[in-house]
Amino acid sequence: QTFAQSPARTMPPPGGVDAVIVGAGFAGMYMLHRLRGLGLSAVVFEQGTDVGGTWYWNRYPGARCDVESMQYSYSFSPELQQDWQWSERFSAQPEILRYAQHVADRLDLRRDIRFETRVTSARFDEAANRWTVTTDRGETVTARHCVMATGCLSSARLPDIAGLEGFQGATYHTGHWPHEGVDFAGKRVAVIGTGSSAIQAIPVIARQAAHLTVFQRTPNFSIPSRNAPMDAEYEGWWKSDYEAHRAKARMMRTGILYGLNEKSALEVTPAERQAEYEARWARGGTAFMASFADLITNRDANDTAADFVRDKIRGLVKDPAVAEILAPKGYPIGTKRICVDTDYFETFNRANVTLVDVRDAPIEAITARGVRTRHGEVEVDAIVFATGFDAMTGALTRIDIRGRGGLGLAEKWEDGPRTYLGLMTAGFPNLFMITGPGSPSVLSNMIVSIEQHVDWLADCFAHLRARGLETIEATREAEDQWVGHVNEVADRTLYPAANSWYMGANIPGKPRVFMPYIGGVGAYREKCAEIAAQGYPGFRLA
Ligand code: FAD
Repeated sequence: QTFAQSPARTMPPPGGVDAVIVGAGFAGMYMLHRLRGLGLSAVVFEQGTDVGGTWYWNRYPGARCDVESMQYSYSFSPELQQDWQWSERFSAQPEILRYAQHVADRLDLRRDIRFETRVTSARFDEAANRWTVTTDRGETVTARHCVMATGCLSSARLPDIAGLEGFQGATYHTGHWPHEGVDFAGKRVAVIGTGSSAIQAIPVIARQAAHLTVFQRTPNFSIPSRNAPMDAEYEGWWKSDYEAHRAKARMMRTGILYGLNEKSALEVTPAERQAEYEARWARGGTAFMASFADLITNRDANDTAADFVRDKIRGLVKDPAVAEILAPKGYPIGTKRICVDTDYFETFNRANVTLVDVRDAPIEAITARGVRTRHGEVEVDAIVFATGFDAMTGALTRIDIRGRGGLGLAEKWEDGPRTYLGLMTAGFPNLFMITGPGSPSVLSNMIVSIEQHVDWLADCFAHLRARGLETIEATREAEDQWVGHVNEVADRTLYPAANSWYMGANIPGKPRVFMPYIGGVGAYREKCAEIAAQGYPGFRLA
């Protein structure tokens, strides 16, 4: 019935708009709301049939947020955050999607969103100082500003495995899950990949399927979620002073309010260390990585946490050989996205689940009937690709974006993304990215980061308008300095030690650059605010 409320498709106004927004996830939705508040006209293009972005597309079984419900929501409206009630400690995808739909209804957002419309190109017209945006429906609209709210994890990636097209069973990607759901009862299923999505989906699929075979290349560290129905007292604590709690969260390194232990893992006794890890393991969730202050900067400290989790895995998985395959080695804990699960490791104790170590037996081909490795063919009825995304840059470089002198964004970023503050890139005036590379984005509670970027942009648009200015553009020098700073901060951590999607390592040929900014959400927020307050140094305003 939500879809039925969507207004009839109307063409964008012929004279153009103040802003085009690409994407109607949490970023695009809030950007539209803020632009309306400024009295600016905007049109949003979205490929899906409704709002929600990530939570619209990723409908795989077990899909759930790793940030607690009380924190993974908009904070801009006191009424909204008081009225909405989350049913669980960590929300499942259907509930987050309902929340996004509720916000769209409440703010009447859909009348300015053109659904089922993919933006194919955006070109800057230097004479007019305007962007011309073209869609796959052949529509063209001109806009003063172009806001890319295209998502960091929205460009799903299928591996290049020979024979895929000849497979006679069903195939799925977790990031493009059928809306009607999939019934795996009685089916032999393969899951390829063991990242965050797989770790959520595998326990649920294992309970349905006749047999599940998991193909793992790189094992991942995962912490139990200890998910539970929402505790009324906890909800009450948040809602009793939501604004103050949110304000604290905004200044945290990850944008999440949780207890950060300021001590080094190496300054406490082994017993104290064990007790800290045990307590956080029992509490569940990503706050495990805040057990000590130096887990992400000191390899010896990190090893203590990694050893703890490996021991837990060995305790949970009955077959020691399987446990060893599942126990991550060779990269520091937390340097690939830390996972949060419900019964993931225990699932490998089930009689109907088999683990295939692809490092030992690489997938040679998909055949008509299944998956073939060096050790033979595994016959399956369905293959689930949990193979992730072309993260952070994929959704942007898929669009033919051309700035000054016809320079293509994909071309400019050939050796890795270059931005100033993750908000703009030199040579592309009035083109903005929400949670772009070079900002904390995927290392944070993303709704916190989205709100910060959108608020900064709204202030920036108001500033330009008040001064009768038409364009804002990052300078090359500011961009170079920022990229240098982003790299320097990353190099002080253990992050570059892992082949992660943060580094582009999951995409063959993608340059190895640590893309998000690890300097912390709070520090980054202050930096952005300071730049705005000083009249936007590092940007050219005209
Ligand atoms: P998205 O939600 O990705 O929305 C972008 C939208 O842009 C999409 O709907 C897409 O269709 C549209 N789009 C892209 N390109 C085009 C185009 N050319 N034309 C038209 N439309 C286009 N974050 C957290 O903070 N905590 C979590 O626990 C967490 N869990 C996650 C789990 C999964 C499985 C995934 C995939 C992501 C998760 N994230 C999590 C990150 C999540 O993406 C963000 O939290 C947030 O939803 C991003 O919102 P967004 O609006 O920026 O992007």
